[in-house]
Amino acid sequence: LQQKEIIIDSIFKAIIAQDTAALSKGITLIESTQQNHIEKAQQLIEMCLPYANKSIRIGITGVPGVGKSTFIEALGNLLLQKGKKVAVLAVDPSSTISHGSILGDKTRMESLVRSSKAFIRPSPSGNSLGGVAQKTRESIILCEAAGYDVIIIETVGVGQSETAVHSMVDFFLLLKLAGAGDELQGIKRGIIEMADALVINKADGDNLTRARKAKNQFRKALHLYPLTQNSWSPEVLTCSAIEGTGIEDIWKMILKYLKITSENGFFEKNRIQQNKFWLLQTIEEQLKNSFYNNPKVKAALDSKIEAVQQHKITPFAAARYLLGLNNE
Ligand code: GDP
Repeated sequence: LQQKEIIIDSIFKAIIAQDTAALSKGITLIESTQQNHIEKAQQLIEMCLPYANKSIRIGITGVPGVGKSTFIEALGNLLLQKGKKVAVLAVDPSSTISHGSILGDKTRMESLVRSSKAFIRPSPSGNSLGGVAQKTRESIILCEAAGYDVIIIETVGVGQSETAVHSMVDFFLLLKLAGAGDELQGIKRGIIEMADALVINKADGDNLTRARKAKNQFRKALHLYPLTQNSWSPEVLTCSAIEGTGIEDIWKMILKYLKITSENGFFEKNRIQQNKFWLLQTIEEQLKNSFYNNPKVKAALDSKIEAVQQHKITPFAAARYLLGLNNE
């Protein structure tokens, strides 16, 4: 036990001293599924908590190819120039299916990777999106303790991952491309409602006029949506991540948002609300894990599934039986 405390203590001290290798090690502990690692990780998170909560957390989503990594690199570099430390984390829903991920594998954000003031970590993998997202949520705490001022969380525009990321950030930005015709087509309404800003990327070259038109269409369309609970009406901007144009305006908009929501109390209220969400989320996740990892359940699950499929037993009776095994 003593040994365990010493190791965690030294990782903690190194994280607070802004040592990136220690931060990586800490996140590896968070991502581990080994029981003793899980315990150590929880200890470490608790130690880091008093040093956390001081960053700005920005969520970025958009379909593959929209330019997320190029955009994050451009925004990240701008922030580095402003003397900020930037961490980039990811929630990749595909990492629950295969261990290769859409987001993490490419050689991405090369100039950010080279900077000692930037920290980039690919998405954790896991059995469920909830699990993957929870690990990222916990990693935020370590990054904040390590002195990162801005935490960018990236996710792909598919499935439920946007909702998960939305519930761990202060500002949620949706990247879009200018399309033809009705600009709101193809966007899920739920995502529009989550977005604090809609940014049309690749506003350069031949695409510039189209991007500006799209911006006007989006602006008109967004007026039809009610104000969000933070009394902020989502803004629509254009940028070229590759040329670096429009990025400064996007940062100014984020600062404006932070000012407004800090003054009207939403910023703090939202974080408290998010903590409640993660409390409940974690309970659900752990109950599920303890159930499916229970050896008795593991041994009986397949035969009960088969029995249900063969109509020998109802799904409810099978569930009650299996849940009972876990409570023994
Ligand atoms: P992601 O899949 O959303 O992370 O997108 P990437 O950042 O990998 O970009 C996809 C492709 O779009 C790459 O070939 C980029 O070079 C290109 N791209 C990204 N941003 C821009 C931009 O602002 N303008 C143009 N013309 N191309 C861009």
